[in-house]
Amino acid sequence: MQVSVSRCADYNQDMVDQAVHAAMTHIGGMERFVRPGQKVLLKVNALTMKLPEEAVTTHPAVIMAVAAEVKKAGGIPLVGDSSGGMAAGQAPTKKTFEVAGIAGAAEVAGAELVNFDMAGAAAVPAEGPIPILHLARPVLEADVVISLPKLKTHSVTILTGAVKNMFGCVPGHRKAEYHRMAPRVKDFARVLVDVYEATRPALTIMDGIVGMEGSGPSAGNPRELGLILAAPDGVALDAVVAHIAGIAPFKVHTTRIAHQRGVGMGDLSKIEVLGERLENLKLRDFDLPSNLMFEVMPGFLVSGVLGMLRARPVIAEDACAGCRFCVDSCPVKAMEMSEKIPVIDYNRCISCLCCQELCPRKAVQMKQIHPLGRVLAGIVSHSKEKKRRRYLK
Ligand code: SF4
Ligand code: SF4
Repeated sequence: MQVSVSRCADYNQDMVDQAVHAAMTHIGGMERFVRPGQKVLLKVNALTMKLPEEAVTTHPAVIMAVAAEVKKAGGIPLVGDSSGGMAAGQAPTKKTFEVAGIAGAAEVAGAELVNFDMAGAAAVPAEGPIPILHLARPVLEADVVISLPKLKTHSVTILTGAVKNMFGCVPGHRKAEYHRMAPRVKDFARVLVDVYEATRPALTIMDGIVGMEGSGPSAGNPRELGLILAAPDGVALDAVVAHIAGIAPFKVHTTRIAHQRGVGMGDLSKIEVLGERLENLKLRDFDLPSNLMFEVMPGFLVSGVLGMLRARPVIAEDACAGCRFCVDSCPVKAMEMSEKIPVIDYNRCISCLCCQELCPRKAVQMKQIHPLGRVLAGIVSHSKEKKRRRYLK
C-alpha cells in the first residue's frame, strides 16, 4: 500500500498545481484512476461557513489543482458536499460553498457544483449500528469518487481525515440523526467506516498545506504543515497522518476499525511512503484535542469515575452571538436558548461536539465542569506548557 507525500509551502496556485501533480506522479498519475469521459466527483470538506484561511474547509487552490488533473486525464469533474448543522431547518451547504471559496473554485475549474442536500439520497446496507444508511446519490452514481479532506484534529474522533471526510455524503439533517443513533464514539466510528466503505473513494488527496491542530475540526488553530498527501487507500493515508501528528495510528478508531474489517491498511509497517521519508515528517509538538486521553484509556476507566472528568462543551458568553445555530443543530435537543445564550442540559448531551464543530464564533469551548477535572486539567496544561518550552529550546 502506497501513500505519496509532496511539499507545498503555501496556496500559490502554481505551487499547489505542482505539488498535486508530484503527489499523483508517485502513485501512477491521475490516468491510473480516471479514464476519458468518466464523471469524477470531488468530495470536498465544506464543513461549515468559514473562510479558506481559517483552515476548516478544503482550500479552493487544492480543488482547482485536482480538477485540472482530472480534466487532463479526460475526466469530467464535479465538486460536492453537504455541510454540517441546521440553520432555519436547512443545512447551510450553499452558503458554505460561497464563503469557503468552493463555489468560486468549481466555477473557475469548469466543474459542476453539487449540493448533496438537494440531489437526493439512496439507501445502502451497512454492517455497523445503523443497518441502512442514506447517502447522496451523486456520490453513488459517479464513475469515480475522489476525496479531498483537510488535515485536522477532531475533538471526538481525534483526527478528521480520509475516512471521516466521507461523512459529508450523508445529506443534511441525517448527519445529526446518525450522531443520535450512534452516540458512543466507537459506534459512531463504525458508522464512519460504513459510510467510507459504501462510498469507497478511488483516491484521496489531502490538503495538509495549512491544517488544524487543537480543538478541530473547526475551533482549533491553523497550523502550517506544507503537505499534500495522496493515496488510493484512505485508511493508509489516515495512518500516515496519525504518525505525522504523533498518534499511534490504531488509537484512531476509524483507522483501527477499517483495518480490522479489511476496508483498508492501517498498519504503518506495511505502508510505503513515497516522495518523503516518514521519519522526517513526524511532528513533536502537534497540539491534539483536550479529550484525547479519554480515547486512549481502557474503556472501564472511561465509563467509570474518570469519565466524569471528561471535558464538556461550555458556552463562552462573551464570544457567543446568540445565533442559535448550535441549538438548531444539536442532535438530541440538549440545548435551548436562555435570554440570548444557549444553555446545555448535560444529562441529555451525548458529547458529539456538533455544537463546537459548527459554532461560527468559536464560542463553544471544551472545559472541565467537575471540580476534580478542573484540578486535573490544570496539571495537564502545566505539563503541556513545560513540554512546549522544551521544544522551543
Ligand atoms: S454558541 Fe455559537 S452557534 Fe451557539 S448561539 Fe452562540 S454563537 Fe451561535
Ligand atoms: S450539546 Fe453539543 S455536544 Fe452535547 S449533544 Fe448537543 S451538540 Fe452534541
